[in-house]
Amino acid sequence: MVGALADSQRKVFWLDSPAAPEPLPPLAGAARCELAVVGGGFTGLWAALLAAEADEDVVLLEGDRCGWGASGRNGGFLEGSLTHGLENGIARWPGEIDRLLALGRENFAAIRATIERRRIDAAWEENGLIDVATRGHEVAWLEEAADAARAHGEDVMLLDRDAMRAEVRSPTYLGGLWHRGSSATVDPARLAWGLRRAALEAGARVFEHSRVRRLRRDGPGVRLDTDRGHFHADRAVLATNAYPPLVRSIRRYVIPVYDYVLVTEPLTDAQRTALGWERRQGLADSGNRFHYYRLTPDDRILWGGYEALYHFHNGVDPRLEEHAPTFELLARNFATTFLQLEGISFTHRWAGVIDTCSRFCVTFGRALGGRVAYAVGYTGLGVGASRFGARVALDLVHDRDTELTRLELVRSRPLPFPPEPLRYAAVQATRRALARADERGGRRGPWLQVLDRIGAGFDS
Ligand SMILES: Cc1cc2nc3c(=O)[nH]c(=O)nc-3n(C[C@H](O)[C@H](O)[C@H](O)COP(=O)(O)OP(=O)(O)OC[C@H]3O[C@@H](n4cnc5c(N)ncnc54)[C@H](O)[C@@H]3O)c2cc1C
Repeated sequence: MVGALADSQRKVFWLDSPAAPEPLPPLAGAARCELAVVGGGFTGLWAALLAAEADEDVVLLEGDRCGWGASGRNGGFLEGSLTHGLENGIARWPGEIDRLLALGRENFAAIRATIERRRIDAAWEENGLIDVATRGHEVAWLEEAADAARAHGEDVMLLDRDAMRAEVRSPTYLGGLWHRGSSATVDPARLAWGLRRAALEAGARVFEHSRVRRLRRDGPGVRLDTDRGHFHADRAVLATNAYPPLVRSIRRYVIPVYDYVLVTEPLTDAQRTALGWERRQGLADSGNRFHYYRLTPDDRILWGGYEALYHFHNGVDPRLEEHAPTFELLARNFATTFLQLEGISFTHRWAGVIDTCSRFCVTFGRALGGRVAYAVGYTGLGVGASRFGARVALDLVHDRDTELTRLELVRSRPLPFPPEPLRYAAVQATRRALARADERGGRRGPWLQVLDRIGAGFDS
């Protein structure tokens, strides 16, 4: 491993915390409930909390610990966007985009309000997000994105090269677009643990280490089997993200993609001064392959992304979390971005699974004759959108006709991924084409043009 990684441990920085709560006991024996939620990430936790607040008899079954999946491993960028960015939303739901933006802002405000009301210590910092241009053609992209954002009432500020470098010092920066509204950074594990506590306080029952092995119809309801017990439920919400799904249709729409992250040791005062970054915004590159990075509450740098890896046949396995070439690539790119931090060490390295779908944002569905609803496919932007996903899944599972269930975003489906071995070949071809486009002034080759035409793609 390159020097900066030599002392790093394979541990998730956020989960490696004294604030981690004691595990809750697993399900044992047979029991009944009105609503079962499978999966204790943000989607499942919000679903359990909102259902319990509405006085439903709700049970959450988590296969490991709450927050153990993507929800405890991410960058902690909590964005208002429900559509994985404005551009994607405009391209797919032009007639609905202003409503989706408003719903995204409401969702963001509701998360902030819950965190305050429930006294969740999620290290919330509302400093905005800057998309950074590091290649010439990306400056023009940012200008177009700024025009589109302003046309839709978003609060953005375009930064030229000097203004960008005045915010954060890097010789690679050519410009930036600062999104100043509905954007925060959080400690995602503390948010998940806080939501778990809130759900319990609101009356939800939560079982950890209770993987649901089987889900089937059971009279008018469903039965969920774990290793040591089972639940009879009237209805179930599946919030299982990129993990092996309990209903077949999810497998067509969602593929698990590994994303890798590094965290540095805490910065010294001299290093902080050399960086600038006084306003502590979240940062992300604008290319197809992008890094996302931010300061942690204790002034380390979290640096992730760039390479997202798909493994044959929807491979998910803890062994895939160790991938030295990707960690080394991340460390080298970090060194190029922040020359002034030469000699800094990384303390943590980890990976998490992203639920990629071909439209890059959450998709919904029902199964088992409407007894089950799911919300999956956030594709790397689900920290905020998961609360919206949970609300929609609750409406769907209760067959409620609401403003949310009438949205085209909710009623439409993404293009499915092809079966293997085509699936693997298509993802690899797309990854290569995206990398080539970055190197060729952003020009999209024939393969990407075909995908654009049919409304499909690959992102993280
Ligand atoms: C490395 C990384 C960085 C990211 N960065 C960001 C970011 O900065 N901003 C952003 O908005 N998004 C980001 N994301 C995406 C974001 O983390 C997810 O969209 C979001 O956390 C999804 O939450 P979830 O509850 O749907 O899934 P998860 O948090 O993955 O939860 C699913 C849970 O279901 C459980 N489960 C699965 N199957 C079963 C079963 N059969 N029985 C019981 N339990 C089961 C799992 O154990 C898991 O805990 C990132 C993701 C990764 C991996």
